[in-house]
Amino acid sequence: MDCIFCKIIDGEIPSYKVYEDAFVYAFLDISQGTKGHTLVIPKKHVDNLYGLDERTAKAVFSVVPKLANALKKAFNPIGLNVVNNTEKPLQSVNHFHIHLLPRYENDTLNISMSNNQSLYDESKYTAVSDAIKSALNKEK
Ligand code: AMP
Ligand code: ZN
Repeated sequence: MDCIFCKIIDGEIPSYKVYEDAFVYAFLDISQGTKGHTLVIPKKHVDNLYGLDERTAKAVFSVVPKLANALKKAFNPIGLNVVNNTEKPLQSVNHFHIHLLPRYENDTLNISMSNNQSLYDESKYTAVSDAIKSALNKEK
């Protein structure tokens, strides 16, 4: 398959590996959005979050705190962001990956949340939570 992250796992494309086990591979993101920016990926090719099975999810996510603590120890950041981009608008590599981004005073990373609480009343919150619950029940 023509996937750069599968090629990285196979060693066909070089990477700065920081962690590997039977199911998971972690390496430096080439962009280094902040110092230590690391990607955690499953060895099994999965396009994105929607395709992640429970066993693979457990394997990948269980490595995240271990790496977060290693980044904290190595670089003493003020904080850390964990990011996944699934499909549009931001996913650029179609092999599931989790970004770990240590944060520093005056770094140049731009992640912000918006607060739309003023647009919501009880009936809107209820409609949204009902839609999610009903979709969850249909998944089974
Ligand atoms: P996303 O936009 O969430 O799909 O993230 C893909 C990430 O992969 C980007 O942050 C890229 O910098 C990174 N990336 C692409 N090619 C490589 C590579 N060969 N080695 C390391 N990181 C890469
Ligand atoms: Zn792949």
